[in-house]
Amino acid sequence: MKPIGPLPPEFAGRSGELVVAGRTAGEWVAEHGSPVFVYDRSVAAARVGRFRAAFPGVDLHYAIKANPFAPLVEAMAGMVDGLDVASAGELRLALAHKPADAISFAGPGKRDAELEAAVAAGVTVNLESENEAERALAIAERLGDTPRLAVRVNPSFELRGSGMRMGGRPSPFGVDTERVPALVRRIVAAGADWRGFHVYAGSQTLDAQAVADTQAATVALAARLAEEAGAEPPLVNLGGGFGVPYFAGDAALDVERVGAALVEALRARPGVLARSRFAIELGRWLVAECGVYLTRVVDRKESGGETFLVVDGGLHHQLAASGNFGTVVRRNYPIAVAGRMETEPEEVVSVVGCLCTPLDRLGDRVALPRADVGDVIALFLAGAYGASASPASFLGHPPAAEVLG
Ligand SMILES: *Cc1c(COP(=O)(O)O)cnc(C)c1O
Repeated sequence: MKPIGPLPPEFAGRSGELVVAGRTAGEWVAEHGSPVFVYDRSVAAARVGRFRAAFPGVDLHYAIKANPFAPLVEAMAGMVDGLDVASAGELRLALAHKPADAISFAGPGKRDAELEAAVAAGVTVNLESENEAERALAIAERLGDTPRLAVRVNPSFELRGSGMRMGGRPSPFGVDTERVPALVRRIVAAGADWRGFHVYAGSQTLDAQAVADTQAATVALAARLAEEAGAEPPLVNLGGGFGVPYFAGDAALDVERVGAALVEALRARPGVLARSRFAIELGRWLVAECGVYLTRVVDRKESGGETFLVVDGGLHHQLAASGNFGTVVRRNYPIAVAGRMETEPEEVVSVVGCLCTPLDRLGDRVALPRADVGDVIALFLAGAYGASASPASFLGHPPAAEVLG
């Protein structure tokens, strides 16, 4: 038997049948079919509320890449201060729900057409290189627009304990720190509207001290670079990296501790940042826990003394739960039999998807109440990097439904 991770607190309260956004799993499947991703907006709203209480005066941005389902983006847009996008497609989605001055566009390899769309719309482009800066300036000149430009910095530090490190080494992301002041001076001299700095040092950490240390280092770095550039940044985007507990033994990030440390660091910030705003950009911490993937058991079979529950979903919808999206060792996401939330585990089974590959395993030797054909299996933490981060067309099965409740 292998352990499973903790259920998000909103779903851990055991009712007979799993309830998501006020309706039972069975009701969701009856109306929308199986498999279906259900996103509970009240869970995302609770995360926003917790952030607001812990980080007074700090802007909150939602990184659309975590979940671009349009109704969810619309709901998030109404709760946060800014949207962060990483492509022209996400940009269009963001512009439908937020004014341009509340949108920033980061990511390597922005094509000229994407830069043009961003400049024409008036969103902030977080520049990843000097080359990108020159292309953005040339496009703006051709359009006769004043571009909003921020400089993404490749910091010399990384976010400790982070699942995905994006700083402290040679990187396709951001401009190396020693070259940043010259680039800022170039942008300002060219007449662009310089919006400030963007520093992103990593993702998915549960270590509050590591996040706090990184944020303090980022404030210090922004101050030093601003001094050297001779320009005050209107906004310092401190990145994010807040993790969620996916696996057994994971403990939730203590965001109140992170917030208290940041408030302290900002109180003591150098004068060059006195008038700057600060933002934190989050994806999974805001939306991962609000999502549940529901999939029905199609077959129950025994082989070699093991029991397999074969479901009508799989890694083509929820790649991350199969352990094939950015994890080294396959571990179990929280999983349950949706109709038997009150029942103690009765057997050890593997929950496998319907794809013809041994990689398609959503629960590996997990202890669950008995489930039979037709029962609904719930996979939790499906609100981020689920439907949009999975190979939906692999093997030609239909995509999963998505619904916001
Ligand atoms: C991926 C990414 C995010 C969101 O990361 P989460 O782990 O979902 O919070 C935010 N900002 C940037 C620049 C990213 O690349």
